[in-house]
Amino acid sequence: MRARLQKFLKRLKQENLEGFIVSSPANISYLSGFTSCDAYLLAAKKEIVYFTDSRYAQEVKPKLKRWASLKKINGSVFEIIANTCRDLQLKRIGFEGRHMAYAEYRKIKGYLRPGEYLIPTHSLIESLRQVKDAGEIEKIREALKITGLALQFVRSFIKPGTKELEVAAELERFIRYNGAIGAAFDIIVASGPNSAYPHHRPGQKKIREGELVLIDIGVDYFGYKSDLTRVFFSDKIKDLTQRIYDIVLEAQRKAITKIRPGEEIARIDALARNYIADKGYAKFFGHSLGHGVGLETHEAPSISANFGGVLLPGMVFTVEPAVYLTGKFGIRIEDMILVTKKGCEVLSGFVHK
Ligand code: ZN
Ligand code: ZN
Repeated sequence: MRARLQKFLKRLKQENLEGFIVSSPANISYLSGFTSCDAYLLAAKKEIVYFTDSRYAQEVKPKLKRWASLKKINGSVFEIIANTCRDLQLKRIGFEGRHMAYAEYRKIKGYLRPGEYLIPTHSLIESLRQVKDAGEIEKIREALKITGLALQFVRSFIKPGTKELEVAAELERFIRYNGAIGAAFDIIVASGPNSAYPHHRPGQKKIREGELVLIDIGVDYFGYKSDLTRVFFSDKIKDLTQRIYDIVLEAQRKAITKIRPGEEIARIDALARNYIADKGYAKFFGHSLGHGVGLETHEAPSISANFGGVLLPGMVFTVEPAVYLTGKFGIRIEDMILVTKKGCEVLSGFVHK
């Protein structure tokens, strides 16, 4: 944790910032090393200050010893933050352009004095979070283990007559019983034609005989997330389903085999996309190939055509090619990959189908 803060303070210096107000819960969790909510963190060379109210103060206090001081908020948190900036003689104070609400920005700015500036920044902490350390990878592995078990468990519930919501409920219950804090996002259970909607919300629809079922599930394991998609269907399924499934699986394989440090991220996306296009389904795969996963389900790097940059060891992201045939069905296969020193590891080593 100290190492992360040191790295971040160094980054602030490069950006010519004397202090930084962190408001994104995931970014505060990253720097503090524990799950944070309803808090702000002020990072400066002289001092790190953690702001929260009486609901959390008691719990947080012992965790802050040695590296940060705690300010319990009574009244306006924005006034307290501004006053703390002044006490620390900070003139150029960075904030997260994507995370601080405009109303909050205006309030803090209103409390600052002439010569004290709030400076918007973009993805300073997010870019550090792209590369995971051993402790983070361990938590992601644990999250994936529970997710894999949940998918195995739920197979027996996928039968004609069962409602999509019932399958989602079984999954939700299972993951909590098996050590997850909860689901990382609303679990997707999509049967038959519903699977053609990439982010279908499970409903009262019953699974019919011969329909495929797409499940997209992630869990939260002490702040770290997983994200996996599997499609279940019976062996008696129509030829077209099997054909599309094989195309999507091969597209995924083509991308994964090229994942290694130094490889261009856009090329990984292109490998899967071009294969799907060659098979005639280009317009049925609209989203990017994948996304980073960590403290948030969707984080950097985005595995897409317009994300510049190369793969680095320690990056963890999904590879999830898909083909959606509106009115018929959709197939998406999603796994999580860790970039290793020489190549990659498929973290979600769970049998397909
Ligand atoms: Zn995903
Ligand atoms: Zn997913």
